[in-house]
Amino acid sequence: MNLDKFERYPLTFGPTPIEKLSNLSEFLGGDVDIYAKREDCNCGLAFGGNKIRKLEYIVPDAISSGADTLVSIGGVQSNHTRMVAAVAAKIGMKCRLVQESWVPFQDAVYDRVGNILMSRVMGAKVELIDEGFDIGIRESWENALKDVEEKGGKPYPIPAGASEHKFGAVGYVNFAEEVRQQEEELGFKFDYIVVCTVTGSTMAGMVVGFAADGRARNVIGIDASATPEQNHAQVLRIAQNTADLVELNQEITKEDVVIIDDYAYPAYGVPSDETVEAIRISARTEAMMTDPVYEGKSMQGLIDLTKKGYFPKGSKVLYVHLGGVPAINAYSYIFRNG
Ligand SMILES: *Cc1c(COP(=O)(O)O)cnc(C)c1O
Repeated sequence: MNLDKFERYPLTFGPTPIEKLSNLSEFLGGDVDIYAKREDCNCGLAFGGNKIRKLEYIVPDAISSGADTLVSIGGVQSNHTRMVAAVAAKIGMKCRLVQESWVPFQDAVYDRVGNILMSRVMGAKVELIDEGFDIGIRESWENALKDVEEKGGKPYPIPAGASEHKFGAVGYVNFAEEVRQQEEELGFKFDYIVVCTVTGSTMAGMVVGFAADGRARNVIGIDASATPEQNHAQVLRIAQNTADLVELNQEITKEDVVIIDDYAYPAYGVPSDETVEAIRISARTEAMMTDPVYEGKSMQGLIDLTKKGYFPKGSKVLYVHLGGVPAINAYSYIFRNG
């Protein structure tokens, strides 16, 4: 495997901390040791998160393309578009964002607070579009690209979640390298890595990165898309393409992509009562905040799987916190009493 050939534009603070969640481990019975890798604290750009690790490998291509405008797409409370806006501000480009109504959820200020608020403050041009959820390539996005060109700009397209970008998963291949180095310092290896998955490149990068030491199937994806078949196919395809790109010299098969789809209900972006409970448990045991769209669902999965005995006694489980907390502001009514 060779990552040195990829140019990386440094935007993060460096390796993210791994923290032992002793209170949560104890709360869940004490049979499993739970740790968190804090990707939610990975940089100083507008609250960071997993998208910034991906974008570090995309920015050099954007700069060398001669573009002056980053164009991207997501839901109204997309973390990804917030991070594209942040990167554009940081590298001195303009930013154009298509924000679609992917989430069938109503809150009085849904399109005013959290992620979209920050994108606007950072100077991005935000366009709200009334279209439903789909992780594929969208017409509204292609129209935005054309519009930038027609107005004399040079767009650089970054698809939803940066997942369909050629270099979208390289950052999370590198993540596995980072975890291996931290494991050496810690003196043990994690038995499981639990991660939320929706557009796929975060998990795909991890599957490739951990395949290098035989742990691809120890990466447990928790689907939050509520379209699990599409998600599985997308993770597999991105992992296979990325394996070629980084010269893994090993095939990634569909069995290597382990996704559990029990927690995404009732819909993408809509938390169940159990998701809300998981958010409270994480907050009340560890003061570790999670959001109703992504990490609340992977936290729900972590809690439920631990309770059900999915992880054998004595396992060390690494929960990867991918960020996303700003979106909780758009769900204020649910949490009006805590
Ligand atoms: C984007 C995102 C995810 C999902 O990552 P994908 O690479 O799209 O699968 C999970 N959690 C948070 C907070 C995110 O912003």
